[in-house]
Amino acid sequence: MTAPTRIPVLVVGAGPTGLAAALELSRLGVGVRIVDRASHPSPESRALAVQARTLELLRVRGVGEEMLPLGNTVRAAALHADGHRLARVELSRMPSAFNGILMLAQSETERLLTEQLGRQGVKVERGVDVVSVRDDSRSVSATVRSAAGEDECIEAQYVVAADGPHSSIRKALGVPFPGRTLPHDYVLADLHIDGSLPEDQVSIFLARSGFVAVFPMGHGRFRMMATDPTGVLAAHGTAPTVAEMQELFDRTVELPARLHGLNWSSQFRINSRAVPNLRSGRVLFGGDAAHVHSPAGGQGMNLGIQDMMNLGWKLAMVLDGRARPDLLDTYSSERLPVVRKVLRFTEIGTRVFNSTNPLVHALRVRMAPRALARDAVQNAAASMFGQLSAGYRGGELALGAGDLGAMRAGDRVPDTDGCYDALDLGALTLFAGPSAGAVVDVVRDWEGIVSVRDEGVSSGWLLVRPDGYLAAAGGPGDGASLERWLHRWFVRP
Ligand SMILES: Cc1cc2nc3c(=O)[nH]c(=O)nc-3n(C[C@H](O)[C@H](O)[C@H](O)COP(=O)(O)OP(=O)(O)OC[C@H]3O[C@@H](n4cnc5c(N)ncnc54)[C@H](O)[C@@H]3O)c2cc1C
Repeated sequence: MTAPTRIPVLVVGAGPTGLAAALELSRLGVGVRIVDRASHPSPESRALAVQARTLELLRVRGVGEEMLPLGNTVRAAALHADGHRLARVELSRMPSAFNGILMLAQSETERLLTEQLGRQGVKVERGVDVVSVRDDSRSVSATVRSAAGEDECIEAQYVVAADGPHSSIRKALGVPFPGRTLPHDYVLADLHIDGSLPEDQVSIFLARSGFVAVFPMGHGRFRMMATDPTGVLAAHGTAPTVAEMQELFDRTVELPARLHGLNWSSQFRINSRAVPNLRSGRVLFGGDAAHVHSPAGGQGMNLGIQDMMNLGWKLAMVLDGRARPDLLDTYSSERLPVVRKVLRFTEIGTRVFNSTNPLVHALRVRMAPRALARDAVQNAAASMFGQLSAGYRGGELALGAGDLGAMRAGDRVPDTDGCYDALDLGALTLFAGPSAGAVVDVVRDWEGIVSVRDEGVSSGWLLVRPDGYLAAAGGPGDGASLERWLHRWFVRP
């Protein structure tokens, strides 16, 4: 083999996670290659839900807005049982300009990310399989094999492992993937449903034998997901047919409907697993390579994309020496708690929705309307689905960083009045009010690490990260604590 090719970052896998990583890193000027063993992008719709938080972050990165007209936005999720509606979660309550869930096939999301990546000058290298990796603590050597069987050795300063749930990098490095496989069998299908199902809400039908959920994709098409209570469909091992989906629908849903025009179906079991650390030396894991869970809440793809929004700016700043190397450890310490919460709530949801215990069914029919009648529960549920309430409060990076009013370091900064348009997406942005002159003087010494905007706050100051979370905040007298915090994580030029 010839001498290794040297590159700052190798991204393995061109699913939504790898594409988001390459997008963010190349935008920040980091030399990056992205490879995928598949010769073509997958045409399967798989993840359908694009959540509000993902759209907020992608919008300012050149992708979010063009997604909207291609998909169908739903503004509510309704729960039904025994022929009547139990409750409705008003997703339109989400505190975001994107107050709903965009239903868009994963293949489309991947196409748009790939196109934006192309505009940034990076081409996905397809038919390229990473067959070995070795981390020698100064760099990572990866052997990649082309479809023609030719091997190339790549020496990367860092590798982003976005190679999906069966991650060969995770296995090669001996990184454990603890968790469990849940006992139930599921089926899903993308098809037409003629009937009276609304197209602006997700409809979930609960029965003693399990559940059926339908996600409207627009123009009469729906993603139907259901439990396969007897396991018969799973046992015959092939993708369910339209007749089998119709039978499951009729068994649970008390609405006349005709299912037809199936273009993709699948059956699966749910795994709920996460790596103990998203970092193993110079390899950073993200997306399904790092965590898998029930697809029911439409969270998986969004978690992967947001992993990369957290990682991208940190990796770029460590690579060019603006940040201290241990800033990279906060990728795992911030994202893993968010991931674990999603695992917990999807496991609980799965257990409650799947239960065939008549007592549990009676309880959920009784409790759901009461719980969801409360404003606080509605707001919390909408924000949680939209991944708007997730944040890094209390994390290592937020320690000693200061607060302002109700805002705590680590919180998501809302994108009100297009405030993200004013963000420096390659550095921290200081929004300083008229009284914060002394703080502005402090950051003058931190050129390239902090950009100053004298707008947006009437008193005090806010320091916002490129991924839209609050890095630090305070009043006019908090310059010294800001300086200490900057010294802790960054290198003054
Ligand atoms: C049937 C099904 C339905 C789903 N439904 C939903 C849903 O409704 N909502 C939701 O949020 N999520 C859903 N998901 C999950 C969602 O698809 C994943 O969360 C998402 O694809 C994760 O993206 P990723 O980029 O991390 O991994 P992947 O999309 O798995 O991409 C990994 C990529 O890595 C490549 N690769 C693997 N090994 C190598 C190697 N050694 N060298 C080079 N390339 C490699 C693969 O070819 C692949 O393209 C569903 C998944 C399935 C299978």
